[in-house]
Amino acid sequence: RRVPFLAGNWKMHKGPKETKEFIVELFAAIAKDTSLKGFLKENKVELGIFPPFVSLETAGREVASADISLSLGAQNMHWEDSGAFTGEIAGKMLMEVGCKYVILGHSERRHIFGESDETIGKKMNKALEIGLKPVLCVGETLEERDEGITETVVKRQLEEALRSLREHENIKDNIVIAYEPVWAIGTGRKASDEDAQSVCAYIRKFIEERFGSTAAEGIRILYGGSVKPDNAKGLMEQKDIDGALIGGASLDVGSFLEISRN
Ligand code: 13P
Repeated sequence: RRVPFLAGNWKMHKGPKETKEFIVELFAAIAKDTSLKGFLKENKVELGIFPPFVSLETAGREVASADISLSLGAQNMHWEDSGAFTGEIAGKMLMEVGCKYVILGHSERRHIFGESDETIGKKMNKALEIGLKPVLCVGETLEERDEGITETVVKRQLEEALRSLREHENIKDNIVIAYEPVWAIGTGRKASDEDAQSVCAYIRKFIEERFGSTAAEGIRILYGGSVKPDNAKGLMEQKDIDGALIGGASLDVGSFLEISRN
């Protein structure tokens, strides 16, 4: 049984002060919600937040001192452990402040900052080597969807990112994949439940062919792109969708929790 994962990608929002306020408010709200609190305790659902780098240490401290489980992750990292890489952050530094996850290959990194499949692959390898769990993002642009090459694009992104991983590596517990169609991100235009399910099923099939059925049955595949409280339910009912990577709607405790209750 795959544990549903609701992950909030905060992007460039919330410095340390707002991050602390959010977490305090989130824990207070969860404390009052006995059913969600129970689900978290029994590991039936996982909640995670991905704040900006400078807010991670504050978040790590809040999370470590709470009795409610909340996973912490970063939005990017470098593929080396240290060195002359001005402006970059190493995965080990993220782990030191309490990160369990790191988002890799987000479409904003690919498109605005020119990250290639190759550098994303190097980051995947490093994250797995040091024990940080990547949330690998894949997804097509509108042009690619209109051309009918969604699966080709997603396949290429998966192949490149997972190229040097071996079958015996514990893919299912150590990697999360997020299908995020670029045209659905921040546009209010969520993919239909059927389209999202169809690509997530394709991703699972890819994992099965490449890593075998145990990996495919266990790996969590999320959908991301304009997920809101009023459209999350249908998504979460899809067979191959195990949660959501939420941008805008994760910035508010109320809407983040409303999505998480589905
Ligand atoms: P929105 O939920 O704001 O569309 O962002 C999705 C996203 O990019 C999450 O990584």
